[in-house]
Amino acid sequence: MRKPLIAGNWKMYKTVPEARTLVRGLRASLDSLTDREILVCPPFCALLAVAEELKGSPIRVGAQNSHWEEQGAFTGEVSPSMLQDAGCHYALVGHSERRQYFGETDATVNKRMHALLKRGLTPIVCVGETLQERESNATQSIIQRQMDNGLKGLEPASVIVIAYEPVWAIGTGKTASPDQAQEVHSFIRQQFAKISGASMAHDVRILYGGSVKPENMSALMKQPDIDGGLVGGASLDAESFSKISHYR
Ligand code: PEP
Repeated sequence: MRKPLIAGNWKMYKTVPEARTLVRGLRASLDSLTDREILVCPPFCALLAVAEELKGSPIRVGAQNSHWEEQGAFTGEVSPSMLQDAGCHYALVGHSERRQYFGETDATVNKRMHALLKRGLTPIVCVGETLQERESNATQSIIQRQMDNGLKGLEPASVIVIAYEPVWAIGTGKTASPDQAQEVHSFIRQQFAKISGASMAHDVRILYGGSVKPENMSALMKQPDIDGGLVGGASLDAESFSKISHYR
């Protein structure tokens, strides 16, 4: 059984006091959920405060990115051991906004993934096609390229999470239909079987991301290969993220 994972990507929102307030609101309604895992990914500077607020809670903390080196002259970067020290168990890797605005490539995604695994953190590797790629029927070839290159060298026993986030659905209010998402999730699982074998492919959690809201989460979660959500905008409000997390 794959335990559902609902992750909130706070992007570049929330000061430390705002982050504390949000996470207190989340604890009130989500601490009792045991059949699913809840994760919040605040900006770097709020990680420690959020981890402190979450002491004794099953809600996990993750980062939105990680460098591949442990330390060094890399101004502006944060390493896996620093994230671990701040209380993280997970880190996003290759979010489409990193690919689009900050020059992230499949090769750097791959380096970040390996560095996180080496440190015992779980990478959430994001993949997804743009609207133009979907309209030119390139969805599968893009996902395949992102997986082949981004997951290169993955040890068969390594545990990662994959997030399918169609770029055209992120922050646009346009959610992929449950059938559209399921089709790609099933493809991702098949591709993962070629990399890590059938048993790991059966166990790998594949999250859907792209305008997830309280109104569409239950229908998405009914699909057999959707194991959770990566939620951006709707994770910034305690009530909406709680409703999403309480999907049926
Ligand atoms: C995201 O940031 O990963 C995301 C899916 O954003 P949104 O839910 O706002 O579309």
